[in-house]
Amino acid sequence: MQNSPSSPAEQRNGVVLCISGHDPSGGAGIQADIETLQALGQPAASLITCLTAQNSYSLRDLQTVDVALLQSQADTLLADQRVSGIKLGALGNGAVARFAAGIIRRLRETQPDLPVVVDPVLVAGSGGELGDEAVVEVLLGEILPLATLATPNQVESQRLGPSSTLLEDGCQWLLLTDTDSSSGKTITHRLHGPGDSLHTFEVPRLPGAYHGSGCTLASALAGYLAQGETVPDAVSLGLDFTHHCLEQARVLGAGQLFPNRRWQ
Ligand code: PLP
Repeated sequence: MQNSPSSPAEQRNGVVLCISGHDPSGGAGIQADIETLQALGQPAASLITCLTAQNSYSLRDLQTVDVALLQSQADTLLADQRVSGIKLGALGNGAVARFAAGIIRRLRETQPDLPVVVDPVLVAGSGGELGDEAVVEVLLGEILPLATLATPNQVESQRLGPSSTLLEDGCQWLLLTDTDSSSGKTITHRLHGPGDSLHTFEVPRLPGAYHGSGCTLASALAGYLAQGETVPDAVSLGLDFTHHCLEQARVLGAGQLFPNRRWQ
């Protein structure tokens, strides 16, 4: 049975498509994405790239999902739902990364301005690998050139190379955390954008280590962009949202703290 959308707003609204891995602890990965978008009132759809065995302090195992199944899921989903933003997280291997790049290209054919937020996840907070060298190659060669905004952490930045090259190669905006201020009372985030533009955002430094802070931020950014915010405004709102989630973080395991995405 088919339902027609009940209001013009519903016709306009789409889902943010999250292409991320599953973290059974609930702190990071797809659960972080869905909880974040839910908190922003933004419908989410999900394609799960890999299953992991992990908890708040260690990553033990990772198995990627078969690309044929992912393709079938994507075809079924896209035949039905409108996508208003994409968020990419852990991809696991090169084949899954190429699949994700294909989804972006396919949607951009009819929606050239579709916002795409790339969290180039390569390592878990606990240190385990979530993406191999083939993922790095596809990120550099195919995905980052399509990104509206990328949010590498410091480890990922080092593996991906100079930010100037990423921007020259097509990534429109890059959000980086300033290492120089890492011992101070605040953290400075720098948003590099078109024409050498630079926006800086200062947020109070929090003492803990958090499981899923990057996922929370990147999916909040995708949600705000899907809702029509500009990139600098989405970053300001996304950092603020994430800060509150971390400020209210809970102890749900023996390792990293869990962001509380229902603080509102
Ligand atoms: N995606 C998955 C599936 C993960 O398991 C993790 C970390 O464990 C991440 C992403 C990255 O998490 P964070 O936001 O803490 O960098």
